[in-house]
Amino acid sequence: MVEIKSKREIELMKEACRITALAHKAIEEAIRPGITTLELDKIAEKVIKENGGIPAQKGYPSEEKGVPPFPATICASVNDEVIHGIPSSRVHLKEGDIISIDMVTFKNGYNGDAARTYIVGKGSKEAEELLNVTKQAFFEGIKYAIAGNRIGDVCHAIGEFVESKGFGVIKEFQGHGIGRSMHEDPAIPNYGKAGKGIKLEPGMTLAIEPMVVAGNPNIYELEDGWTIITQDGSLSAHYENTILITEKQPEILTIL
Ligand code: MG
Repeated sequence: MVEIKSKREIELMKEACRITALAHKAIEEAIRPGITTLELDKIAEKVIKENGGIPAQKGYPSEEKGVPPFPATICASVNDEVIHGIPSSRVHLKEGDIISIDMVTFKNGYNGDAARTYIVGKGSKEAEELLNVTKQAFFEGIKYAIAGNRIGDVCHAIGEFVESKGFGVIKEFQGHGIGRSMHEDPAIPNYGKAGKGIKLEPGMTLAIEPMVVAGNPNIYELEDGWTIITQDGSLSAHYENTILITEKQPEILTIL
């Protein structure tokens, strides 16, 4: 069941989303060679808490048996790490690294979810192109995120665009509805068939999130039960916003 949010719920979601965007801005400004991913985590946590929010990913249970819940505010995934990287005082960013930051703020009962990939200092041509294609894939997808269209129209547009640029999409993880819960219906894969799936309606709130790899999109999970890595070591990027479906182009709630 895909929930339709009321005007009041949408206002509450906008506030959670605004805080997520503020925390991303603070991280973008702080990223430099030498900083650790744990320091970035503390920066995001401070912004979220100062604005009355709660870091929603912290304490999120793992699907793997015997693995502790996610311990941090942000997912910090460096280079060949795709998603769910755990911030660490041992991971110092280096010039030319790319880092994907994913975070969710919870406030007044609602969630706001966004991810960005950043280059540390100056990156390779391949890294720059990967980041551009990943971000552009989001915008190609949401051109179709309009009331009356099907969710498959969005999925199809993302996948086609990425593959037309010679990159691959991750198929094991996907976007999702969002609201009171971090993950709601529908599932929104980054590939699919146009004309399929649920019909979009005004008031749906969705997290659209292309995860793109420069090489082969096969992945595996580290023993920490969280970190997802590309099998061939190729770079991976992530770009996500929470959007609101309307009769026209969607509103992007996690951009300031
Ligand atoms: Mg996210």
